[in-house]
Amino acid sequence: MLLNEAPGKEATLYSRLPSGRLKCTACARLCEIPEGKVGLCGIRGVVDGKLRLLVYGKVIAGHIDPIEKKPVTHYRPGTSIFSIATTGCNWLCKYCQNHDISQRRKIEGTEMTPTEVVENAANYDADGIAYTYNEPSIFIEFAKDCGIEAHKRGIFNIFVSNGYDTPESVNMMNEFLDCITVDFKGSGKQEFVRRFIGIPNADPIFQTLKNIRDKTSIHTEITDLIVPQVGDDLDDAKRLCKFVYDELGPDTPIHFLRFHPDYKMMEFDSTPVETLEKHHRVAKEVGLRYAYLGNVPGHPLEHTYCPECNSVVVGRYGFSITSWNLTEKNCCKSCGHRIPILGKPKKIHKNRFQVIW
Ligand code: SF4
Repeated sequence: MLLNEAPGKEATLYSRLPSGRLKCTACARLCEIPEGKVGLCGIRGVVDGKLRLLVYGKVIAGHIDPIEKKPVTHYRPGTSIFSIATTGCNWLCKYCQNHDISQRRKIEGTEMTPTEVVENAANYDADGIAYTYNEPSIFIEFAKDCGIEAHKRGIFNIFVSNGYDTPESVNMMNEFLDCITVDFKGSGKQEFVRRFIGIPNADPIFQTLKNIRDKTSIHTEITDLIVPQVGDDLDDAKRLCKFVYDELGPDTPIHFLRFHPDYKMMEFDSTPVETLEKHHRVAKEVGLRYAYLGNVPGHPLEHTYCPECNSVVVGRYGFSITSWNLTEKNCCKSCGHRIPILGKPKKIHKNRFQVIW
């Protein structure tokens, strides 16, 4: 794409190289971009010697979702989230369910200022805003401006991120972000991420998680998309779980998500539920206390169990909370063990068994 005008807004996360190119530091691709061109994500480009976020104020998707759909289960459960995205992405996932948005290399979307984004969220009675569907670190300057406005209205901010970030983007997250869920795919196995995502390795994701731990107080959850045959190795899952246990702690929630065929990976089957159960077992053996299965509504491993007495403390069906057996201080009603969940739902969907996703 060749740029000859100045759309969007000047980015913050970049530096100038001796070659004259600009180095984008919003994500771990670290694109070195010449005048008139864009980086790999297609939405950050050099115009008149400056790096511009071309999609600043252009929202390509906006939906109201439950927070459990992100998935986030230990932060403000049962809340309603206004989810937004721009076009573009720094990953090239062959299975992407949002490929129409993420792999679109066009600068388009509904014009919205940060104030208008927050007004929309408030009008929908949303408790939080999620920056999701594509990788939010690529439009982090816009997310930050929305996030700061959101805080003024008592609305929290979530990133659903692939974690392929930089120390600079983590520093910026710390200015406005309350919660992040970092999505591994195929447990970060090198062969998988090279072949199906188009990145050399998952090392920057592990580093991002350490940076978030060391430099912020952002609530963090982990997901891992388990892809049958090519991204379902239990040794890789164990390596990821060990990292989470050692570096982030045993109370960090981890979600193993079921893969569904999509985009350029239609020849693969959905992940067998038994495979997900094996991954869950690995997580528990490593010592992670809160492991979940995702995209399998009705499975008992959607629930939160007390690690002390094994009672169901939060019952779930899909994205709905069906029972809440915690005290005022979020301790298990059976044994008193404190469960690290921040907040409590306004509503319990006792008879809600219809889930759409
Ligand atoms: S955000 Fe985009 S331009 Fe910047 S380094 Fe990542 S892929 Fe390249």
